[in-house]
Amino acid sequence: MCAAIRLQALTFDLDDTLWDNHQVMVETETGHYAWLDETLEVWQRNRGRAPVRRFAERFPLKAFLDRRRELAAAYPLRRGDFTWLREQALQWLLQDYGLDGDDARSWASAAMDRFMLLRHQVTPHPEVESLLSMLGQHYRLASITNGNVDIRRLPLGRHFPVAIAAGELLAPKPDPRPFLAALARLGASPARTLHVGDSWREDVEPARRLGMQVAWISPHIDDTPLPAGIHRLDHVRELPELLRSLVGPRQGC
Ligand SMILES: [Mg+2]
Repeated sequence: MCAAIRLQALTFDLDDTLWDNHQVMVETETGHYAWLDETLEVWQRNRGRAPVRRFAERFPLKAFLDRRRELAAAYPLRRGDFTWLREQALQWLLQDYGLDGDDARSWASAAMDRFMLLRHQVTPHPEVESLLSMLGQHYRLASITNGNVDIRRLPLGRHFPVAIAAGELLAPKPDPRPFLAALARLGASPARTLHVGDSWREDVEPARRLGMQVAWISPHIDDTPLPAGIHRLDHVRELPELLRSLVGPRQGC
């Protein structure tokens, strides 16, 4: 008979695990680009140089996306560092638009400040605050994200003594390194840690390969049996029930 494994730590993906990310990304993407287009146009007019074509007219959002893809292909180590890719792509576009290097850098930096402001307007699921508060009393908690939300900028950040930005480590999930970094900083072993995430490829597979337990947030009804150690949840609010069930004697068998 297998002995119960007592979990020490929990690691959490952020986007689409603790909040729905789609709408905030849409608003962030369009919002910061529109802000850049409008404020740049005012700046140009105030300098007596009203543009013949506005920035976003010459380079619509699609052109910005294409530049990021080109940069990611040219700098594969940076492919997961979305903040860097965005700022570099903006600089490149702004210089193509006619700004000199210093102005392009300043405007790209200002646009990224705006981007980050909007990017952090996430609305965590209503249960998340009390959930993390309760879990933090029993487990060590870490966040591991490929995205560019800095959890320390949100009220939820107080629950996470360890926050791993995988893209900035140049090792985006499914690379095992952000998981190993979190485990090392938590002082937890993989077998006694459970990772919570929505992506099969970026959360479930790499965490399981390291020997972690996994809670897979996947609201799609699917009766396919899952490998041992992987537990499907409709929503992160179901996590306490899962943790209670894992205390049973067959956990880890
Ligand atoms: Mg996610």
